[in-house]
Amino acid sequence: MTGDISRYTRARLFSKVGNTCEMFGRFSTVAGEMGTADTARDPRGFALKFYTEEGNWDLVGNNTPVFFVRDPLKFSDFIHSQKRDPATGLRDNTMQWDFWSLSPEPLHQVTTLFSDRGIPATLRNMNGYSSHTYSLWNNAGERYWVKWHFKTMHGIKTLTNEEAAKIAGEDLDYHRRDLHAAIGHGDFPKWKVQLQIMPEKDAETYRIHPFDLTKVWPHRDYPPIDVAIMELNRNPQNYFSEVEQAAFEPGNMPPGMSASPDKMLQARLLSYPDAHRYRIGINYAALPVNKPHCPVNTYHRDGQTRFDGNSGGTVNYQPNSFDGPLDDPRVKEPPLKINGDADRYNHRDGNEDYSQAGDLYRLMDADQQSQLVGNLAGALKTVPRFIQLRQIGHFYKADPRYGSQVAARLGIKIDEVIGKVA
Ligand code: NDP
Repeated sequence: MTGDISRYTRARLFSKVGNTCEMFGRFSTVAGEMGTADTARDPRGFALKFYTEEGNWDLVGNNTPVFFVRDPLKFSDFIHSQKRDPATGLRDNTMQWDFWSLSPEPLHQVTTLFSDRGIPATLRNMNGYSSHTYSLWNNAGERYWVKWHFKTMHGIKTLTNEEAAKIAGEDLDYHRRDLHAAIGHGDFPKWKVQLQIMPEKDAETYRIHPFDLTKVWPHRDYPPIDVAIMELNRNPQNYFSEVEQAAFEPGNMPPGMSASPDKMLQARLLSYPDAHRYRIGINYAALPVNKPHCPVNTYHRDGQTRFDGNSGGTVNYQPNSFDGPLDDPRVKEPPLKINGDADRYNHRDGNEDYSQAGDLYRLMDADQQSQLVGNLAGALKTVPRFIQLRQIGHFYKADPRYGSQVAARLGIKIDEVIGKVA
């Protein structure tokens, strides 16, 4: 740890500057299956597991600060639209753009994905983000909302579509080969761990919905502070047992760290362990890569492939009279004061999907804007015209220049679109 955040959290990991902690990381593409090209334009999974002295802390992030949807009910629709056509088994740009153009909340993430940062040069040259809002809480029962940032210490480097296609033709495993070689050579990748911190009360009045996964918190509002350095300095000894069997779950957090009302996070708290039970089996958490590096006191017993000692002859229920482990009331999280947020809601109500996509476009220099527009036009050119027009309308709402540039690259007169922009 390089920065003192002990006043925000009781987690022992952050109790003093100088603390260290073993960790494990896994990077992935999102849409492509195992064996597809590493250099595809796709968000990267940025999954981290920290073996803290009070149990594991898992952070299942991306290399982008936001995501495509804010409503977990839309998650499976979104994923279906990115995966293969049910009839042909082919990836299909029309499916992607049909969904994106009808449900504009992905616009911010789409702008990120088609920007130069949409294809990292290596996994060492990209940032990671928690994207979700999480929380920290301290011994005084005060809660803070936080967003985690992992800033590469090797500079952002990216690939153009042409560079990426050439590499994919030569080496499908380009990114994982690079990472393995760098760590093997002792050229250890490092990220600066930073934190944006919002006092609990601010969430009630902040102009941006603090739990909306399609939005960032501008740095001028909540400046990121330095917390730690993360270094990857050891390759796996066995890829299957360590990487394939790694199971990350956002609910793994030591006392002093917690979740937030972000509805996408709430869904992931349930769906990730569910997926692990299906993919690996009920005892996934006891596998070496997933097991905390501190004692585990649990009443979980039995089940398929119970490969360890199953807690021997110790008592297996609570309450009990035989010294079984008890809940520790000192690590009870302060209650949430937000009322009504557990309601089902229409994720389109009261949201606007354009300003931060526009902010991102305006932050880019001319070369980056040109790459963005070229990448978008390339992906949109085979899509039916009515979808092109609908989508250009969204770019136009984010920034009229943005929409006009994409239209021009597709040979469409922007006047055709403007009439349709609500
Ligand atoms: P800020 O100045 O507060 O944030 C700028 C951030 O944008 C920096 O973290 C920087 O990351 C990143 N950035 C700079 N150039 C690019 C680029 N070409 N593509 C993607 N990200 C870039 O401005 P705001 O917070 O008002 O944000 C403006 C836009 O920046 C947002 O709409 C969002 O899309 C994007 N952004 C914001 C982040 C945030 O947490 N506020 C994080 C990342 C992106 P770096 O230091 O690595 O260059």
